[in-house]
Amino acid sequence: MQVVFLGLPGAGKGTQAVSITEEFHIPHIATGDMFREAKAAKTPLGKEVQEYLDKGLLVPDELTIRLVRERLGQADARHGFLLDGFPRTLPQAQALDGMLAEEGLGLTHVLYLLVSETELLQRLTGRRVCPDCGASYHAAFHPPRSAGVCDRCGGALIQRADDRPEAVSVRLRENLERTRMLSEFYEKRGLLATIDGERPIGHVYDEIRQALRGDHS
Ligand code: ADP
Ligand code: ADP
Ligand code: ZN
Repeated sequence: MQVVFLGLPGAGKGTQAVSITEEFHIPHIATGDMFREAKAAKTPLGKEVQEYLDKGLLVPDELTIRLVRERLGQADARHGFLLDGFPRTLPQAQALDGMLAEEGLGLTHVLYLLVSETELLQRLTGRRVCPDCGASYHAAFHPPRSAGVCDRCGGALIQRADDRPEAVSVRLRENLERTRMLSEFYEKRGLLATIDGERPIGHVYDEIRQALRGDHS
């Protein structure tokens, strides 16, 4: 199972990824999380990408592709993965095809979570995340059981720097056209499953499960 999660920032990819990895036992590989970790640890990569992250701009393809190539080379990704936030550009999609082809593999599913822009704005500006385990919450739509505390690990929730309104609009602009192009790219290849991402979290997951089980049950 080689799965790509496509969707604009705020579509619910991270939220759904938690359930998918638990049920299907594939590693969740999120480029945004990896970049944020590198930034927090002040590694050379982290220093290089910091400004892009803070502004909401895409990190250059070359750096991003190198990161994913290294990650997919690790043992736990040999038997499948869920890629979240990659590819975000056509050159990244082509590079991914190349990496998989080298191993005699190909993508099995591309899940496209579709959510309107007005809904995305509300989701992103109200999002709170756990810096310790990556879980995503929302002040109104998906509050934690105890205010400000992660249900999963007890971490203290924070607002991401790029969920401020200025950076949110940059991120949507950066990704709108590219996401549309990627959805067409995968549609043509017969890999795309479009999922209504505006429904409640559990309903969205039911649709995802159906799409993934379609030819794997
Ligand atoms: P969201 O969860 O809102 O979709 P991410 O956490 O996936 O956002 O990404 C956060 C930031 O990390 C992006 O704004 C961008 O700077 C960088 N990033 C993540 N994935 C990619 C990618 N595939 N290509 C370029 N930049 C990326
Ligand atoms: P992404 O990883 O695609 O950027 P997240 O999973 O972080 O998106 O979700 C963005 C925000 O929207 C979070 O605050 C999350 O709690 C909330 N959210 C996710 N799915 C839904 C949903 N189906 N309905 C309402 N809010 C949602
Ligand atoms: Zn947590």
